[in-house]
Amino acid sequence: MTANKKKPTPGSTKKVMPGITVLGAGPAGIAAAFALSRKTGDKIDVLDRAPRVGGNAASFQIDNIWCDYGSHRFHPSVAPDILADVKNLLGEDLLLRPRHGRIRLGGRWIHFPLKIANALRYLPKPFAVSLLADMALKRFRKGKAQAQTFSSILLEGLGPTISKNFYFPYVRKLWGLAPDELAVTLAERRVSGSSVSKILMKMVRMLPGLRGETTGRFYYPRLGFGQISESMTDAAQEQGASFHLNSDIVRIEREDNHITAVVSKGEGGEVRHESKQLLSTIPLTALVRLMQPAAPDDVVEAAKEIRFRSMILIYLVLETDQFTEFDAHYFPETSIPVSRMSEPKNYNASTEPKGLTVLCAELPCDPTDEWWDMSDDELGERFCGWLGGVDLPVNVPVRKTLTRRLSHAYPVYDLKYQARFEKIDNWLSGLEGLVNFGRQGLFAHDNTHHAFAMAYGVADCVGADGSFDTKKWADYRAEFATHTVED
Ligand SMILES: Cc1cc2nc3c(=O)[nH]c(=O)nc-3n(C[C@H](O)[C@H](O)[C@H](O)COP(=O)(O)OP(=O)(O)OC[C@H]3O[C@@H](n4cnc5c(N)ncnc54)[C@H](O)[C@@H]3O)c2cc1C
Repeated sequence: MTANKKKPTPGSTKKVMPGITVLGAGPAGIAAAFALSRKTGDKIDVLDRAPRVGGNAASFQIDNIWCDYGSHRFHPSVAPDILADVKNLLGEDLLLRPRHGRIRLGGRWIHFPLKIANALRYLPKPFAVSLLADMALKRFRKGKAQAQTFSSILLEGLGPTISKNFYFPYVRKLWGLAPDELAVTLAERRVSGSSVSKILMKMVRMLPGLRGETTGRFYYPRLGFGQISESMTDAAQEQGASFHLNSDIVRIEREDNHITAVVSKGEGGEVRHESKQLLSTIPLTALVRLMQPAAPDDVVEAAKEIRFRSMILIYLVLETDQFTEFDAHYFPETSIPVSRMSEPKNYNASTEPKGLTVLCAELPCDPTDEWWDMSDDELGERFCGWLGGVDLPVNVPVRKTLTRRLSHAYPVYDLKYQARFEKIDNWLSGLEGLVNFGRQGLFAHDNTHHAFAMAYGVADCVGADGSFDTKKWADYRAEFATHTVED
């Protein structure tokens, strides 16, 4: 990827020609630039404060092993037109791989995604019996709860066995909140199998003869998940879009309810991008904070209250070819604070380099937690200790530990988030010349293919004359609300 490096002359703020300005070079911002530069001759500038493209979906190398920011798969449920573009961009580098993970339930390892024969063999018998009883008793559980929360929805739909043994400890770990402190939206966005019978049907569809070409599989690029973003960036640049990395956004200027310009600051000083259309994928909290004149007090207040969950990624470099044959291990149990561990070499089926592999632990937390300020080595030692506690002892030499910190890993859907989000969203939606979207922009707990779908939707709404079809966008927004996360 060769992002353009146009250096403004130091000194006063440099002005550039009006055009479409995109904030954020994560998948949403990149896909918007890609789809728009294919469609219009408009000048398109993408600004990101990071030194590289891809946002949370980028990749980087550790000792010649491609690593992602936690387990990332490109899910086959992606819209056909987007998949066609990604296939076209990556060619043979886009691999279709079988999912081969494990989940730890009741001290036993079960294949994930669930498979009938494996579950019958390894699920603890009392667990399986309670699960079937929950299925039989489903109709007696309906409508008992007064106020609906994540917890009540799951207890009603799935019953206590899978809720209490899997989902409840898992969400407590991911969001740091009890299941009854989390909103219904989380159940809608996160839990695709909303009843035991639906989960069983999914398992049936995994049976040989009944499964489709992509069932139980995922797409993954040969050079890490970030290769998707990088190839799309290259294509967008070839079509005329410009990417400005290491560009901090200083302010967003508006006159009444009309956005007029974005001021960014890079190596050479400030640049003022007069904007015909501002497409923002940065966190909606930052977007509000950057407004000048400032947003109304109640909007600013709501933006201060709404929160994102952070995450530390711990990369343990081990001197062995492969630690296990599995791509990911999921840990719902509370004895280990890590939610998931992946082994990147198993994602792209790489056998190189020999004698070396990486394990990546996802440790959800807040910057106020004890983990946040720990050194890499301390976190590496903790990680080894936790693995020992779940029957995965590290018996090979640890070459080193590296860490990365994500400030905006997951939106927190607590019980007050909806009102706060709507306050911010309603105000932003009333601003002319601004569209906010993407995972951080719409506070959406979603996948990369959803971020792409949003970006393609934005591009579809931009007219040849630079106008924006708000009616069409409202229809897209309603569709985005139905997106369900895939793990
Ligand atoms: C642990 C984890 C695992 C995941 N696994 C999967 C998976 O398996 N499959 C999948 O499809 N998706 C997965 N996702 C989701 C995926 O990462 C996101 O859907 C995707 O990154 C969203 O793209 P985006 O562009 O909307 O946001 P982001 O990727 O967050 O990009 C936002 C961009 O905005 C920039 N930015 C932020 N603030 C500013 C500012 N003030 N000024 C300038 N720039 C700014 C950032 O630097 C970043 O580049 C996972 C996410 C996490 C956290």
